[in-house]
Amino acid sequence: MNLEEFRAETRTWLETNCPPGARGPGEISNGSSKIEIKDPDTRLWLQRMVEKGWTVPNWPKEYGGGGLSTAEYVVLLEEMGAIRARPALSSFGTSMFGPTLLEYGTEEQKQRHLPRIARAEVEWCQGYSEPGSGSDLASLQTHAELDGDHYVINGSKIWTSGAHNADWMFILVRTNRDVPKQEGISFMLLPMDQPGVTVKPIALISGVSTFNETFFDNALAARDDLVGELNKGWTVGKRLLQHERSGMESLISGGTSSTDSGILDVAREFLGEVDGKLLDPVARDEVISYQMGEAALHLTQRRVVEESQNGATPGPATSIFKVVSTELQQDYYDLKTRLRGSRGFGVDEKEFSDGELEIVKQFFFSRAASIYSGSNEIQRNIIAKRVLGLPD
Ligand SMILES: Cc1cc2nc3c(=O)[nH]c(=O)nc-3n(C[C@H](O)[C@H](O)[C@H](O)COP(=O)(O)OP(=O)(O)OC[C@H]3O[C@@H](n4cnc5c(N)ncnc54)[C@H](O)[C@@H]3O)c2cc1C
Repeated sequence: MNLEEFRAETRTWLETNCPPGARGPGEISNGSSKIEIKDPDTRLWLQRMVEKGWTVPNWPKEYGGGGLSTAEYVVLLEEMGAIRARPALSSFGTSMFGPTLLEYGTEEQKQRHLPRIARAEVEWCQGYSEPGSGSDLASLQTHAELDGDHYVINGSKIWTSGAHNADWMFILVRTNRDVPKQEGISFMLLPMDQPGVTVKPIALISGVSTFNETFFDNALAARDDLVGELNKGWTVGKRLLQHERSGMESLISGGTSSTDSGILDVAREFLGEVDGKLLDPVARDEVISYQMGEAALHLTQRRVVEESQNGATPGPATSIFKVVSTELQQDYYDLKTRLRGSRGFGVDEKEFSDGELEIVKQFFFSRAASIYSGSNEIQRNIIAKRVLGLPD
């Protein structure tokens, strides 16, 4: 089937199978077995997308994916965008862990873990940061020791997003203390529902994200769930971060699933326009600069994917995307809040609508974007060393 035939077929399938309630903003499953999908249309949409393999459209079919090429995946995203269909599934499993396991897992590990992610049966969380090891991740101390068929894990992690709802964790642990720090780390997988794991939520100012402290007290990871070689986990862990930083879906779509063109609507509503031109020249300048920045990012993302082999996630260059996209995200919420003037920063439930309060929460959460998945200062260090080749 050529690409145009694929597009026509995809359009028809989406029109028939994407229920009205799965279009526009709304609930998106992350696969957690602990979260019930409330909206019936969202549930139906997920079920249909699972059957089609389109929860993970570009994964191989044998692991529950759709087996689509990069070009076909772009078409699918474009067609979903055209009817405002939400992704059926969005999770740490689909965006970070799955792609990493596809590259580093054994066949047995892929068969055991990937189809369950594709079928939205499990959600994963990320056990990387520790109280003393954030930017200097390689100094992590949580320790694992082999005992028979299991690794026994002791220590703690912090800022573990979604750990309270996760079924499994991918974790970086120290397995050798007598070598340079990067050479004594292993990457393993453990179920969250076991007596050795305790999760304590951390409340956030934004009210949006819930992340946690996670404690390991003789927690167990099966020997078969060591990914890659013992003490070679730093390579696997770094690759996962590249998938995280790339935001692969937006990298592939290069603008087709652009979050929001709403900034112009906000400016029109609050500042007024004449003949399609915003009245306030300063705001006009800011809105246009934001839109140009967003368009440039998306076009660059698309070019990078087209130039890479089989659409694979690029290496250290993902740090560039992380910096630019998170700074744009912060500009977006900053501008959106300022354009709304006195309606921009509501905290009082009596005076402000739910929608207005939601924007404030999103503004707060956007501040975290330059910190999570490695702070932007650290990304600049990576760009300097690994992309530009500057000396240490
Ligand atoms: C919303 C959110 C969700 C998160 N989710 C997870 C998760 O699910 N799992 C997980 O493991 N972690 C998670 N994190 C943790 C995140 O990865 C860390 O916060 C981040 O890596 C920074 O580490 P830190 O907080 O210890 O700050 P620190 O490392 O203490 O850094 C403090 C400041 O110093 C700067 N700095 C440090 N070293 C350098 C250097 N060498 N050069 C220049 N500047 C430097 C940093 O940029 C930062 O501004 C999350 C964080 C946030 C905000």
